[in-house]
Amino acid sequence: MTVFKGLGLNGRLLRNIEAKGYKTPTPVQESAIPLVLSGKDVMASAQTGTGKTAAFTLPILHLLSDSERPAPKSVHCLILTPTRELAAQVSDNIRHYGAGLKLNSQMVCGGVNIRPQVRHLARGADILVATPGRLLDLLGQNAMHLDHLKLWVLDEADRMLDMGFIPAVKRIHAAVPKKRQTLMFSATFSRDIEALAQEFLVQPKRVQVSAENTTVSRIDQVVHPVDKQRKGELLKHLLRNDKAGQVLVFSRTKHGADKLSRQLSKAGISSDSIHGDKTQSARTRSLSRFKKGEVQVLVATDIAARGIDIQQLPQVVNFDLPYVAEDYVHRIGRTGRAGEPGCALSLVSADEVVQLQKIEKLIKKSLRREDVEGFEPEHRLPTKAVKTGGKRPPKPSQRPKGKSRSGAKSSAKTKSAGGKPGKNPSGRPPRTRRRAVSA
Ligand code: AMP
Repeated sequence: MTVFKGLGLNGRLLRNIEAKGYKTPTPVQESAIPLVLSGKDVMASAQTGTGKTAAFTLPILHLLSDSERPAPKSVHCLILTPTRELAAQVSDNIRHYGAGLKLNSQMVCGGVNIRPQVRHLARGADILVATPGRLLDLLGQNAMHLDHLKLWVLDEADRMLDMGFIPAVKRIHAAVPKKRQTLMFSATFSRDIEALAQEFLVQPKRVQVSAENTTVSRIDQVVHPVDKQRKGELLKHLLRNDKAGQVLVFSRTKHGADKLSRQLSKAGISSDSIHGDKTQSARTRSLSRFKKGEVQVLVATDIAARGIDIQQLPQVVNFDLPYVAEDYVHRIGRTGRAGEPGCALSLVSADEVVQLQKIEKLIKKSLRREDVEGFEPEHRLPTKAVKTGGKRPPKPSQRPKGKSRSGAKSSAKTKSAGGKPGKNPSGRPPRTRRRAVSA
């Protein structure tokens, strides 16, 4: 078994890693750290949750700890991230891992006053974590320059592409010196990302910790088919059964996230929402309340959820499916982090079949369908097999009568004549045919 000691990191970093409680490097750390330390360009396909942040921050801290201090307004290492949340997360990691190294690390992103950022950059920075738009603003104002850059990291490059940042990234590329070390991390490697890597990286070493575009294997992924108008009710039902703790719920729209959070709060389930229309301070506040365990549910949009790193987040719920299939991979990567088991539930209505099929095609796997008792949909999801090469669960007609997928004996039919909420003829609260949200 590889230990951190064997990777070539200095003693201070090893002590900081120990203080974080990490025992062994994750696979992406084991592969990437020695490559970065040897000065190679690296292209790593690693999802969030695999320990990828430490895979680049640890060797960068090692390399910079020996170098001279940066000149005023200059930067030695630039870490570009698509969102403010991810930038904050990476900065946090740098602070923890780099404690005692006396490196000057700064973070700049939009949504907050630029003046303090200009002031701080006047001194120069060993490490700058930035989102593309704000970085270009600062470069445009001559508040800083990238002429002395040694290391450039593009974190979640696929996300930058999805968010339309590539023109901005190309402008940044034009401002960095030709001689530098470049690292690119991406959950998925599409043709566009490959092209970008070819443009930015020189003979990169590839690191791949799990099959491309596949989801983390330890995450239990389940689809609960449900009629669209009953999703809210089903979510409340699942959350009330939940004894395992906190849940991150994904909503496709900002409006939907706010509405759902209000509905949950009204039903006595403590919840908050996080999305791009909220100010940065409101987003930070919501996230910190969730992290402290003050609210059970955080409803988030895809973009706002990037970079959310919460230890022990046992499950995520997709209240609706994303239009972009890759977002599903990002969403479920919020649970099952660093090898912990996780659970990802998707509430899927018949109108989302195309999105479901795209996701199954991307992850090369058919997701297990499980009806929740009392919430069986009027409009069934087609069980048409996705051409994955993998095995599908048997169709309901192929299962022994009276048995649920989990093998449990199904109880009395609970669907009401009109499929109306709460009309459960048994008089008992509806139960799932498997464990509910809770682990
Ligand atoms: P990341 O993929 O960088 O977002 O990291 C996911 C989570 O794994 C974070 O909470 C890290 O603190 C944690 N982590 C990173 N490396 C290790 C390690 N070697 N052992 C245990 N946890 C780790």
